[in-house]
Amino acid sequence: MSLEKLLKEKGYEAVIGLEIHTELQTNSKMFCGCPARVFGLEPNTAVCPICLGLPGTLPVPNQKAVEWTVKIALALNCKINEFSQFHRKNYFYPDMPKNYQISQYDYPIGVNGYLEIETSKGQKRIRIHRVHLEEDTGKLVHVGRTGRISEAEYSLIDFNRAGVPLVEIVTEADIETPEEAKVFMQTLRSVLLTLEVSDCNMEEGSLRCDANVSIRPKGSTSFGTKTEIKNLNSFRALEKGLEYEIKRQLETVLSGKKVVQETRHWDDANKRTVTLRTKEEAHDYRYFPEPDMVPMEISTQIVEKIRSELPELPFEKKKRFIREYSIKEKDAGILVSDKEMAEFFEEAARLSNNPQAVANIILSELLYHLNESDVWFSDIRITPKHISDLVNLLESGKISSKIAKEVFAEAFKTGKNPEEIVRERGLEQISDDTMLESIIYEVLNENPQAVKDFKEGKKQAIGFLVGQVMKKTQGKANPQMVNEKILEILSNN
Ligand code: ADP
Ligand code: ZN
Ligand code: MG
Repeated sequence: MSLEKLLKEKGYEAVIGLEIHTELQTNSKMFCGCPARVFGLEPNTAVCPICLGLPGTLPVPNQKAVEWTVKIALALNCKINEFSQFHRKNYFYPDMPKNYQISQYDYPIGVNGYLEIETSKGQKRIRIHRVHLEEDTGKLVHVGRTGRISEAEYSLIDFNRAGVPLVEIVTEADIETPEEAKVFMQTLRSVLLTLEVSDCNMEEGSLRCDANVSIRPKGSTSFGTKTEIKNLNSFRALEKGLEYEIKRQLETVLSGKKVVQETRHWDDANKRTVTLRTKEEAHDYRYFPEPDMVPMEISTQIVEKIRSELPELPFEKKKRFIREYSIKEKDAGILVSDKEMAEFFEEAARLSNNPQAVANIILSELLYHLNESDVWFSDIRITPKHISDLVNLLESGKISSKIAKEVFAEAFKTGKNPEEIVRERGLEQISDDTMLESIIYEVLNENPQAVKDFKEGKKQAIGFLVGQVMKKTQGKANPQMVNEKILEILSNN
């Protein structure tokens, strides 16, 4: 039974809130001059006394990181706090050289925003609770068979990531299904990519998501006890992890037990969540204002300047695509979900007088070939001009849609112009009446049984005959025309 049906049957609903972290790809780290892009570097080579937390050092905030956080908060429709402050969040863990993380507490940069998402059930607004700026921690490498801490022989520490600017985005618990959670993350990712603040690579950890989830009797207005799931490294893991956890909580409650508030780890290999640690409270962190930095004042002037420089966001782009190019709403939604794809479409659509046909080719042929060859738009040889040329060839009836697929495949592989491919390989559609007729007569003569069948009322025999003509012409005949001609000939004698 689907999870949705199961919940409905038992009279329960799920409540989900996400905490997302995204690493900013500024030139330098949050409070020192070390590089911020550290993924894949030799361990402990992008460090200095400041991000190693050595005594006597002082942090200097990265202005670009603050501006980018404002940018993210504005794109998420947040109010920007004019007064904002860094706090120390104290805890002891070996990947944190200072034994505290510089983060934000009661004065985050952005609050009270929202993001519109589009699920299979329509549009929905997910409120954003806050957007704040902090520093990332280092990384532990657990050496042992599984790479899990419980089975490690020893652990190594890499401080390269310590001090990388990190933005935390917290949603309100407005999300109701695992699918909504996934779509929210996908939408947020495309917003962040549009803002060019992070590469948002979930596998490499530059975009991370923790999911808070609880269940409650349907219609109840108070929240149930939540658990928090960590280690959700892909959209799929997010969806599957939530499905598993909702089911587990439902079974717990139905068997008369209580859900325990805790942090759970998504075990992707075994597709389940396991207990990581039980609840810590905010007061455990002994938050206090960072004494080494003055509070920040972000003036209205700066906020408005950043607002005026915001790029067109996917949601706005979608509306514009529908308006300017009259393409299907669903197609527009898919096209804007990726920045490179949207740009590619728009270039091709501008060159063509049939944007919908352009969209069709991109969303079918091009996506198919991209998936097959495991590349993305920046790596391909076929150009927007090729797509609009191909549409022209189709529209003018020079090639059939079957041949178009072939031409596309070759243009994709070689980067050759479609017109050139058609000319070189003699692929023009045969729309010449007399030529077509002579081929049709040949086929009718060679297939007396099918002709007989048709005349005796087996109308589907026509499909076979059309197929034979297409075969004889290597797909170059216009199937519509062939169909009409055969009907005409057979009903006249
Ligand atoms: P914590 O203090 O444990 O970090 P917060 O109140 O800061 O909890 O909320 C963290 C995230 O969990 C937010 O996205 C919030 O919407 C969500 N959340 C809070 N309570 C619940 C609940 N009972 N069920 C599901 N999600 C919740
Ligand atoms: Zn440093
Ligand atoms: Mg919290």
